[in-house]
Formats: sequence, C-alpha cells, structure tokens
Amino acid sequence: MDVFGKLSNYDFGEVHFRLDKATQLKAIVAIHDSRMGPALGGCRFIEYDTDEAAYIDALRLARGMTYKAALAGLAHGGGKSVIIRPKSRFDRVALFRAFGRFIEDLRGHYITAEDSGTGLEDMEIIRTMTKHVTGIDPSHGGSGDPSPFTALGVRRGIEACVKFKLGKPDLKGVHVAVQGVGHVGYYLCKELHGAGAKITVADIDPHKSERARREFGAAIVAIDDVPKVECDVFAPCALGAGINDVTVPFLQAPIVAGAANNQLAEPRHGNDLHSRGILYAPDYAINAGGLVNVAQEVRGYDAAAARAQTLKIYDTIYDICERSKRLNAPTYKVADMMVEEKLSAVARK
Ligand code: NAD
Repeated sequence: MDVFGKLSNYDFGEVHFRLDKATQLKAIVAIHDSRMGPALGGCRFIEYDTDEAAYIDALRLARGMTYKAALAGLAHGGGKSVIIRPKSRFDRVALFRAFGRFIEDLRGHYITAEDSGTGLEDMEIIRTMTKHVTGIDPSHGGSGDPSPFTALGVRRGIEACVKFKLGKPDLKGVHVAVQGVGHVGYYLCKELHGAGAKITVADIDPHKSERARREFGAAIVAIDDVPKVECDVFAPCALGAGINDVTVPFLQAPIVAGAANNQLAEPRHGNDLHSRGILYAPDYAINAGGLVNVAQEVRGYDAAAARAQTLKIYDTIYDICERSKRLNAPTYKVADMMVEEKLSAVARK
C-alpha cells in the first residue's frame, strides 16, 4: 500500500496506529488537520475486509471532519478513529479500555466521540482511561444524544433554503419529504411539525414511519417514491449517496436539504442538481449541529451555548446560497471553497 501517497491524496496530516494483541485491538487514529485546534471526530467500530480499507476510511472521514468543524466555526481540527472489529470473540470492555489508553497517549491532540458501531457505553469505558472523549452520559457532564441538535441545525438550514429559494419567511405550509426517520429524521419531523410544515416520510422500518404519522401527522410513501414526491424540500436523513444517477432525474423538490452524510453519490451529482436549478444544502454544512454539541462538551457542557451556535447554521447555509448564486457555482463547491479560505488563512502547525 502506498501509505504516504494516500496521505498526500487526502492532504494529510498524521496517522497513528495501535495493535494490542491481548485485546485484539487494531486501531487507527487519523488527524487530518489541527490548525483550528485539537482534532475532534468519532470512533468507528465495524468489520473491514482489509487493513487498507480501514486506513482509507479513517483518512476520508477525518478529512470530512476538518471541513465540517471549520465551516461550523469550531476551534477544532478534523480527526477520526477506526477500530477494526475482530471477526472472532472479543472482550468489549478490555478492547475499549485499550483504545482509551491509545487516545490518552495522544495527549489531547485527538478527541474521540461516537460513530457507527460505537455508543454511549463504549464512551463511558474509554472515559475510565482518558478525558479526551465526548458523547458521554449527561449524568457525568456529557452532552448525550447529538441527534436533536443535528435535527435543529437541519431545520435551520431548511429555513434558510426556503427563504432564499422560495422567499418564504418560515416553514408554515412548506411540504418536506423526509427520507429515513431514525434518530435525526424523527427529531427533524418534530422540529418541522412544530414549525407548521407538512410532512411526508419513508423508512425501511414501517414502525418508524408509523410513529411519524401518529405523532406528527406525516403522510407515508414507499421508499422508492420518496425522492419523487412533489414537495418543497427533499430531506435525505438515511444513508449516504441518496443523490445519484437514479434519483436526480426524478427529484421534484426545488430544494434538497437533509441530515445524511455524503449525500452526493459523486461530486458530479452536485453539478447535476445545480444545472437543474435545485438548491442543495451541502451535507456537512447543514448537519453540523451534533458536532457543535460535542465540541461544547470539550469545554464543559453548556446546552444553551450549543443551541445558540447550532442556530447559526441558518447564516452559514444562507451565505452559501448567496455565493453560489453570485458565482453561478454548485453549492458543494462553494462550501469547500469557504473552508479552504478559512484554513489557508491559518498556518499549518
Ligand atoms: P439512524 O440509523 O438512526 O436512522 C437512519 C434511518 O434511515 C433508519 O430509521 C433506517 O431504517 C432508515 N433507512 C435506511 N435506509 C433507508 C432507505 N433506503 N430509505 C428510507 N429509510 C431508510 O441514523 P441517524 O443517526 O438518524 O443518522 C441519519 C443520517 O444522518 C446518517 O447519514 C448519519 O451519518 C447522518 N448524521 C447523523 C448525525 C447524528 O447526530 N446522529 C449527525 C450528522 C450526520
């Protein structure tokens, strides 16, 4: 594997590896950029076919965190950790304690949090070994579930898009189709319902769609139909790559704005949306509320301050919309440019 070539491709940075045979820990901490402050980002714990796949995943995700944190105006750089899930039986407590020691050895240069495959219980185990961990239990001064904050930021982002594209000052009567009503999608429906929006949902889990119908009066459509709903806003809140060759031609909404990470299957789909006149809220700009919330935890958790900062996502999204119009450039490129401007103003450490 071309280790340094890959680092160069992703414009890194530094990477740390730890093998602990006794617990089967195989972990990678990727610190993409720490110009803005200590790197902050979640710990992914999933199976990988190869070590190389885990390494690339860590690099890709860490780079994304630099962009998300910088655009949200946080004093943090981007990092991510990946633990390769053992294929044989393992002791979860021992493994996450070993991971905690690894994080402690990095002395706060990287701060970890939850991600796919990890949860609050794992953060609590890590906490026994290091203080450089967020997303811990509120009873221990942690910030708890980030999803309500992510949803709040997405609602604010949708409001900015609706104002910019449709000239409406609020969401009363605005029709939003939400794809995926899991953690964030559920709270987003709650926010939208509170703001007087009309909601349509789709989820592969019928119980989740049904809950949205019961609690927020949402209409339910089939999974394949949700991108085709005639509505004002399509809100992808399920998995990534929802904006792709199949869905782009069918989109009816003038706005795409949702919580999912990596919504564009490829960057060219962002160009397609732009040429079709569909306003796209860049994913890492609109879904930063959860990160804002855990970043607050680093300084001693203050929910009101986290909320106030999350509300500012409106301004960021509106700014992106204005620049995109002025430059006639796709919004995802504008967001990247805004981050690169911010980063280049600060010298690398
Ligand atoms: P989740 O797993 O709780 O919810 C995802 C939901 O999507 C589930 O209910 C699932 O059944 C449904 N789903 C899966 N495939 C679907 C499909 N094809 N069509 C319709 N529904 C489908 O996850 P989450 O925490 O709510 O995160 C949702 C998205 O937002 C992810 O992309 C995540 O990376 C991103 N995100 C989450 C947070 C957060 O605070 N949780 C923060 C930033 C970004």
